[in-house]
Amino acid sequence: MLPPKTTKKIIYLDHAAATFLDPKVKQAMEPFLASEYGNPSALYSKGLIASKAIASSRKIIATIIGARPNEIIFTAGGTEANNLAILGLAKKHKMPQHFIATTIEHSSVLKSLDALVGEGHKISLINVDKEGFVDFDKLKKEIRPQTVLISVMYANNEIGSIQPIAEIGKWLTRINNERTRKNLNRIYFHTDACQAAGVLDVNVNHLGVDFMTVNGSKIYGPKQVGFLYVRSGVELEPLIYGGGQERGLRSGTENVAGIVGMATALELAQQNKEKENIRLLKLRDRMFKNLKASIKALRLNGPGLNNKILNRLPNNLNLSFSGIEGESLLLYLDSYGICVSTGSACDTNSLEPSHVLSAIGLKNKDIKSSIRITLGKNNSIEEINYVAKILSQLVKELSKVKTPN
Ligand SMILES: *Cc1c(COP(=O)(O)O)cnc(C)c1O
Repeated sequence: MLPPKTTKKIIYLDHAAATFLDPKVKQAMEPFLASEYGNPSALYSKGLIASKAIASSRKIIATIIGARPNEIIFTAGGTEANNLAILGLAKKHKMPQHFIATTIEHSSVLKSLDALVGEGHKISLINVDKEGFVDFDKLKKEIRPQTVLISVMYANNEIGSIQPIAEIGKWLTRINNERTRKNLNRIYFHTDACQAAGVLDVNVNHLGVDFMTVNGSKIYGPKQVGFLYVRSGVELEPLIYGGGQERGLRSGTENVAGIVGMATALELAQQNKEKENIRLLKLRDRMFKNLKASIKALRLNGPGLNNKILNRLPNNLNLSFSGIEGESLLLYLDSYGICVSTGSACDTNSLEPSHVLSAIGLKNKDIKSSIRITLGKNNSIEEINYVAKILSQLVKELSKVKTPN
């Protein structure tokens, strides 16, 4: 039987949607939310304190990603950074260009590309296989003389599949050398690393990328802050005009506290990633094993769980429970204080079934019966065992309600 419902203690398992603010990050931000309110553009010392904080954050981030400080453009989050890379590059060209991305990109990439279609640009979306990995051969065949950008996300927010960014980067370097000989333009490479920044190597030279998007809110930092790495020499047109901050690419008074918080968060996450990845992977696999043992109609969506190769984010589980509505499960779990998300109405703004689950071949009914569980650094083995128990019992109860067919 199910234990009594309680929402007294929250078990938060939706870290791909948002993470809590790490106490150390909060501490680093606090002065800039209170006493250090100077405008970073001001010339007196109170302004200088703010501009120095931005400069040192920029340096911390640049060191971590192997870039130069002036290659970092701070934005108001991952969505804006993705828009800036795609629309900012398109605005640089008078003639229609060709853009390539995958079918499982974040909506901020897909919708930016959609917006370009109306302006005469051409878009190719490359499919992924059943596990959610980009079809590299198809990608290779898709490039054209007019191609200016390839955008491939580093790790997927729904199914956790990790794309071979470094491999694509190496191949593209070769292609670009050939193109230079043929007097063709360079093809730029963008990766949306929002889900990867706290987990994987984000060195832009190892990856071979010209643009990289990172945000604060997925790495235990603040929301509405992010950055776009822009390789030196690559020209973009701004999307926001004004006082000329961020080398003119992103005007507006800087979010000083947010920037300091994001830099601190990235530093913390990168320092601890090896140990934390192993811990999360063990918890995640334990959760799956427990569920698999008690639920017959359980299906894992996305890459297979494999201890040896990091091909799936270590905190990600995406599951379908045949015949049971994911949304019912979500609401029942919520009544036990457990937070997960679904693949159908992944956010309350959209009733569309997940484009990612559909891209890996799930039928609508399996998408409707899916939930996403993403673990985080405060989750314990006790929580995992408890959630697996509640979830198994909920699935049992809910399948009884259903008439067998
Ligand atoms: C969250 C997320 C975004 C959007 O970032 P915001 O900071 O919410 O604008 C973009 N891409 C991926 C992969 C994400 O997970």
